[in-house]
Amino acid sequence: MITVLRIGHRPARDKRITTHVALTARAFGASAIIIDLHDEELEGTVRSVTDRFGGSFHVSSGVNWRKFLDENKGTRVHLTMYGIPVGQCIDKIREDSSRNGELVIVVGAEKVPGDLYGIADYNVSVTNQPHSEVAALAIFLDRYNNGSELSATFQGRMEVVPRERGKEIRNRIGNTITNKKPKRKD
Ligand code: SAM
Repeated sequence: MITVLRIGHRPARDKRITTHVALTARAFGASAIIIDLHDEELEGTVRSVTDRFGGSFHVSSGVNWRKFLDENKGTRVHLTMYGIPVGQCIDKIREDSSRNGELVIVVGAEKVPGDLYGIADYNVSVTNQPHSEVAALAIFLDRYNNGSELSATFQGRMEVVPRERGKEIRNRIGNTITNKKPKRKD
């Protein structure tokens, strides 16, 4: 079980990026996202994707993150550019979290509270350069899952059929519901 904990979410500013954090968490193998500030619209967007594209991804917001980390028995990873390079600690994190039965990955939005560095079991960097929580989460999950998430299936109402060109979507029983051919340029 992998849970992503998003802290510092500001509904007015971060709706789009926090939605991307949630969708990346879902697509790359996490089972849930917890967001500190309440944001019903964001919850609705994420649920709508899960409803159409499948899986059992859970989203909740308005959660006290310190209490959540206090009560959670899983391995706590905080993604930060100041941490230990992911390649140096990922095997240990995999071992620890499989023993604990859960992995919680914390990502920030703005500057995170200083005590988080002490609360986390691992402060992990994905390069020591500043970039994005979405990129850091995707790379971390890919390393954690050894790439297996890239071929996961979700059994949704809508399933994208990989095509060299155009867009094809099938429903659960395999009928094509969208089939757009690329427009010819001539
Ligand atoms: N200025 C903020 C600070 O000093 O904490 C950085 C905010 S950054 C846009 C948002 C989040 O992206 C961070 O809290 C962290 O979780 C993640 N992040 C950014 N760069 C990272 C890196 N190189 N490695 C791991 N996580 C990173």
